[in-house]
Amino acid sequence: MKIIFFNVPGHGHVNPTLALVAELTQRGHHVIYYNNIDFEPQISKSGAEFRPYPDPQPTAADLAEKAGSLPQVSVWVLAQSQRLLPWLLDELRREQPDLVMFDAICLWGKQAANLLNLPTISSIPIFVQEGIKGLLTLRDGISLVKQALPALPALIRQRRQLVKTFGPAVFPHSQIFPCIGDTNIVYTSREFQPETDFIDESFHFVGPSINSDTRETAVFPWHLLAEDRPLIYLSLGTIYHERLDFYRMAFATFAEHPAQFVLSAGRLTDIDALGPIPDNFIVRNFVPQLELLPRVDAFITHGGMNSINEGLYYGVPLVVVPQQLEQTINARQTARHGAAVVLGDWPPYGRTSPLDLQQAVENVLNDSSYRQNAARIGRSFRDAGGYKKAADIVEAVGASTKQTVPSP
Ligand code: UDP
Repeated sequence: MKIIFFNVPGHGHVNPTLALVAELTQRGHHVIYYNNIDFEPQISKSGAEFRPYPDPQPTAADLAEKAGSLPQVSVWVLAQSQRLLPWLLDELRREQPDLVMFDAICLWGKQAANLLNLPTISSIPIFVQEGIKGLLTLRDGISLVKQALPALPALIRQRRQLVKTFGPAVFPHSQIFPCIGDTNIVYTSREFQPETDFIDESFHFVGPSINSDTRETAVFPWHLLAEDRPLIYLSLGTIYHERLDFYRMAFATFAEHPAQFVLSAGRLTDIDALGPIPDNFIVRNFVPQLELLPRVDAFITHGGMNSINEGLYYGVPLVVVPQQLEQTINARQTARHGAAVVLGDWPPYGRTSPLDLQQAVENVLNDSSYRQNAARIGRSFRDAGGYKKAADIVEAVGASTKQTVPSP
């Protein structure tokens, strides 16, 4: 089977697809995977044929700059669609794939496939948020409206422009996000997904797609980890990591703590600029998170969906300090299931105090219910089948649809 995969340049969007794509290529399928050239090493390692988007390519920096505001991300993807669609349509007509996969925010991938009536599968690395109940406050809503209003004229203009260029079929659904397909693969369990009427039988909850062999490797000083002390991991992910103030606060709060800490400070953070590092901290720009988590007793995270999924997969209780709205939803859902303490989950998000941080860490370390609940969710993830189950679904869709793309 020939599969085309369109994704956006973000690690949180690419990481869960790597294990799935590796499984598909090992089963003999040909996957052609489009993204920014920076993602080429990881994607090629999965066995896919990598192809870069045409210049100027959408970049991780573009996406990161907008990531805190859903309306801004919408404006960005609409602009990318307008530019990329003619090229993508040519690629699809030439390649004649059996099916097209795209990430839940990769609008251009969805639109190109829909315009050619190709079978589609969406890869959804976050909760399905449309229509969820009880996880948003009035303050969240006001903050979202404040972000949306200035973006509204551009949103309307760009939507109109796309319809004018490609016809109304370019928007088969009223909502932009999530970009759904004929079939939808969600990398969490049905038990952990917040309730919403938006979900129908086209959604398959396969749990986190985790295979550390497919992920970027990083040198790590394993020999420095102490066996006789709790280990606490702190990371704000790949986008929100330039929070030197937060890292310094963690140093000051935990310098005398009996636990050992590992801080992944992010690729763009100048570690020397952090000042003196306490003896009980190991600080790196990037760590092999999947290999570290099985050894960890508590995870202080920004609440990116991959970090939440990966932590819970290994039964690690969380302290979540969300940096934006989507992470706030993830954080609150984890707290609802009794596996996390949430801090700073009100706009502008991500603010907390040394005392709250310290108490939250003590709570998740000393109250065993957090670990038990994390383990329970982790079991629901494993039972969901992961990337192997996702590959079964892709194969079943491929077997049920055989189609020819109309030639230009
Ligand atoms: N990650 C990693 N090492 C690090 C920091 C992050 O491997 O030092 C990975 C992590 O395992 C996860 C991804 O980067 O798969 C971060 O995704 P997430 O959705 O948690 O947050 P984002 O970076 O999108 O904000």
